[in-house]
Amino acid sequence: MNEAILIIEDEEKIARLLEIELEYEGYRVGKAYTGSDGLELYRTGKWDLILLDIMLPNMSGIEVLRRIRQHDSRTPVILLTAKDSVEDKVSGLDLGANDYVTKPFQIEELLARIRATLRLSALTTAESGTAIASKAEEEWLTAADLRLNEHTREVIRDGEVIELTPREYDLLVFLLKHQRQVLNREQILQAVWGYDYYGDTNVVDVYIRYVRKKIDQGRSPELIHTVRGVGYVLKE
Ligand code: CA
Repeated sequence: MNEAILIIEDEEKIARLLEIELEYEGYRVGKAYTGSDGLELYRTGKWDLILLDIMLPNMSGIEVLRRIRQHDSRTPVILLTAKDSVEDKVSGLDLGANDYVTKPFQIEELLARIRATLRLSALTTAESGTAIASKAEEEWLTAADLRLNEHTREVIRDGEVIELTPREYDLLVFLLKHQRQVLNREQILQAVWGYDYYGDTNVVDVYIRYVRKKIDQGRSPELIHTVRGVGYVLKE
């Protein structure tokens, strides 16, 4: 194992605690106390995952994330957020954070999220490796004029390329593979997040909204439908 995790967190106590726990779990750890130091470490090292606090001194975690995502959509980022910063959480997810953990957190919960995120990231990397090996075989999932290619990760609606974050993409793949099937939030959480998401099933609604906005807004037919009191279904 020995995956490398970069911690960007200005509260030294929390950063130290994380460092100790993560090293105990066998990860290699780097840490920075400011956004700019964090970016510097990010650029000069090779990281499998980044733990990023949002409230940082000179440069906010959101800004750090924005700069990372300008060139790098792959390295998973888990945000550490204060309980009352819903807006930050949402803009963080919008900018391509893979997950977030609300402070104060249980270390076990955070470790579970880290394992799940690393697992998914390894899967995605392996899949794209296979894609190159299999001569970019054409395999499209479709619904109406929406097309998604699992090998190239292209998403196209009505001829227009749609950019999705990794999580939005996973969600859309799941919906497309279960077309006309009504899915409840727990099923979606299990499949897309891949583990028991402690507490907050709202994350499903948030992501459905993101994906809807990108693939359905201003187009017809609408593909993602809400089934009141149950969940969601993708159908023409
Ligand atoms: Ca902080």
